[in-house]
Amino acid sequence: MKVKELFARFRAWQTSPFHYSDEGLEEHHCANCNHTYTGNYCPVCGQAADVGRITWQSVWKNVLSVWGMESKSLVYSLWQLLWRPGYLISDYINGHRQQSYSPTSMLFIVALFYAIVTKWINPAPIDIVAEDEDDLIILLNAINWLINNPGWGIMTITMFFIIPTWALFRFSPRNNHHTLPQGAFIQLFMGTLLLMCIFFSEIISNYLKWLIPIYYYIAYRQLFGYRFWGTAWRLLLIVNIWFLAILILISMAILFERISTYPTPEFIGFLVFELVLLLFIFIILFIGYRISKKTSQARTNATC
Ligand SMILES: [Zn+2]
Repeated sequence: MKVKELFARFRAWQTSPFHYSDEGLEEHHCANCNHTYTGNYCPVCGQAADVGRITWQSVWKNVLSVWGMESKSLVYSLWQLLWRPGYLISDYINGHRQQSYSPTSMLFIVALFYAIVTKWINPAPIDIVAEDEDDLIILLNAINWLINNPGWGIMTITMFFIIPTWALFRFSPRNNHHTLPQGAFIQLFMGTLLLMCIFFSEIISNYLKWLIPIYYYIAYRQLFGYRFWGTAWRLLLIVNIWFLAILILISMAILFERISTYPTPEFIGFLVFELVLLLFIFIILFIGYRISKKTSQARTNATC
């Protein structure tokens, strides 16, 4: 019974952890503009009510503000991301901005932390060097850049999820018809989560990399409301599309390196290969989109 109760409380926290009330708000005298008001912020100039004497705490907060870390909500937002990822993202894209730290800052602070800790554990910089002249310099440079700039790297990698997510989860039971900018925010949160999973697997145990697919499943299920299979097959398709998109980019890099020797049969071959891959992506997206639309219509008919 106890466990059941605890789980019920956890579920309640997951879906709505914040309760706002305007009861018990004190009257304040603004230190900045002398306006008298009730609440946490001055309605005239916007200064917080708890700004008072300058203490060592104010100095500390001001130093932390260099990295945007002056508020405690960074830690709590990361905590929420680990325990209620999909609900947090859903809250954020639906206007509950105060419940989460800015996702871009969050991604870059986690990336900075990740870079510092991994440098400390393994001080030698990672640099994959070309072995001979025939090697693919552009590709190697791109891989080195992704590894050595975890923030931008993760951001680049997850941005490929925006369009497939948009196409396949358009008719979902929850958060349907999300827009592409909302999709960009979804991927910023997912990128932070992905980086945290990579961090755990490098620091604690390699097995923790299995957290990545588990978290994608949990977050997408909470965010879009499909059941197990509905979430799973769509995510699998998204991962496949992601692989195909990366393949296209790699083959394009090869193409650019070999462009001096054009037009060889190799060049034409790569071009055809890329077009076929693009067509494949388009077909997968289209089929997924059609099925999602059909099932959504069936759902609305059933509830009517
Ligand atoms: Zn004021």
